Amino acid sequence: MTITADQTLLRRAIDIAAHAVAQGDAPYGSLLAGPDGTILAEAHNTVRRDNDITAHPELKLARWAARELDPDTAAGTTLYTSCQPCGMCAGGIARSGIGRVVYALSTEQLVELNPQSGDWPTVTQHGPALFDEARAPIDAYYRPS
Ligand SMILES: [Zn+2]
Repeated sequence: MTITADQTLLRRAIDIAAHAVAQGDAPYGSLLAGPDGTILAEAHNTVRRDNDITAHPELKLARWAARELDPDTAAGTTLYTSCQPCGMCAGGIARSGIGRVVYALSTEQLVELNPQSGDWPTVTQHGPALFDEARAPIDAYYRPS
């Protein structure tokens, strides 16, 4: 894909974000395209509408790709998104097998435009603990005897 083709699809992702706002949803839009630029699926943020913190468009498309595409096909796709994927979505995208991401606004640019977008709480994690007990289901699954 050329830079011009990427920009055309990126503009479509921005249009999806604008359409989301018109529907009362948060201003984020994404699409998944095949190697030739064919749009396979589109999504926008429906966190408020669905009362679902995971309803980011990038994660919706990652889940769709993992469910609907074989690994080789997924690897040939590009996710175009109006803003850089957050940590939650980046993890989902990596697991989905999607081959490439192209975004418009970086996280830093988004936070400049809306400082609340950078208010990610930190959660303290404790561990590791109970190794021998915790490994039992892992061993049962991955090393069945
Ligand atoms: Zn996200």
